[in-house]
Amino acid sequence: MTKPPYRGRFAPSPSGPLHFGSLVCALASYLDAKAHHGTWLLRVEDIDPPREQAGASALICHSLEAHGLLCDEAPLYQSQRAQAYEQTLNNLHDAGVIYRCACTRKRLTSLNGKYDGFCRTHPPAENRAAALRLNIAHARLAKHIEQASQFVDGIQGHQAFDLGSSGDFVVHRKDGLFAYQLAVVVDDIFQGITHVVRGVDLLDTNAQQRLLFYLFDSRPPKYAHVPIIVDEQGNKLSKQNHAPAIDNDKAKENLLLACRFLSIDTHQFDNLNIKEILTHATEQWSMQRLHKQHALTLKGGANE
Ligand code: GLU
Repeated sequence: MTKPPYRGRFAPSPSGPLHFGSLVCALASYLDAKAHHGTWLLRVEDIDPPREQAGASALICHSLEAHGLLCDEAPLYQSQRAQAYEQTLNNLHDAGVIYRCACTRKRLTSLNGKYDGFCRTHPPAENRAAALRLNIAHARLAKHIEQASQFVDGIQGHQAFDLGSSGDFVVHRKDGLFAYQLAVVVDDIFQGITHVVRGVDLLDTNAQQRLLFYLFDSRPPKYAHVPIIVDEQGNKLSKQNHAPAIDNDKAKENLLLACRFLSIDTHQFDNLNIKEILTHATEQWSMQRLHKQHALTLKGGANE
C-alpha cells in the first residue's frame, strides 16, 4: 500500500496572541512537514468563546507570517465546522455509544478525575442541561481500547495509557460547546492529517483521541510531542500564564532562538534572512535530538 502524502498542521486556540512557547511548537511542526516535503496547514481552534481573546486569531496568523511560517492551504476555522461536529455527534448517538450526563461540577471534582459512569445508569431528565460522554465500556469500543492506549511517540518514545483511569470522557460540553477532543479528531480526519507535532502538554489527551479515530474507522496520525518551554521558575509559557506576545519586529531573533530550542545549530545563520533560516533549519531538523525531553527552560524572555 502506498503511504498517504505527509500532511501536518499547527492548531492554535486563539485564547491570546502567539507567545514564544507556541512559536517553538509551530516551528517544529512546520520543519517536520517541510523535511518530509509535506503540506503544512493551519487550523484555528476557535470553538471555546469564553476562553478566547478578541482579535487573537488575526494576531496569531500575522505572527506566523512575520516569522515566515506560511501555511500551504487556506486556514481552517473550527467555528465554521459546527455542522460536521453535530453530524458526528448524531452518528455517535445512533450507534448508542454516547450518553447524557448532568453531574454537577462539585460531584465531578469529588471523583478526582475519574468519571464513575453514574449517568450511564441514571439518565438525567430531558429538560436538564447535560454533557455528552463517550461510553468507553461499550462493546463497539472494546476492540479499539488496546490499540488506542499504546503508541510510539516520535519524540517521547513508547507511551501506554490506561483509558479506564479517566473514565467516560466528554464529547459535547454541558455549556453547549463542542469538546476539544471531538473537534480535533473530526478535523484531523477532515484535513487528512498524517502527522501531528504539538506540545507535550497534550500527550495525555492522546489515547482518547486515538480511540475516536478508531471509532470513526480512521487511522490515527503519527504523533510527536515537543518539549514545552518553561520560565526559570518552571512555569509553562502559556496564554493562561500571560506569557508575553512574541514581538514580530524581532522575528529573526525569535526564529534563531526557537531553532536553538529545537537543537538546531544556528552558528552559520546570522547573515541569513528568515526564508533562508527556515530552509537551513529544515535541512538540519531531526526530532531524535529532542529525544524524551519534556521541558526546556527559557532564560530571561524571548524578547528581552
Ligand atoms: N488547540 C490546541 C491548543 O492550542 C492544540 C490542539 C492540537 O494541537 O491538537 O492547545
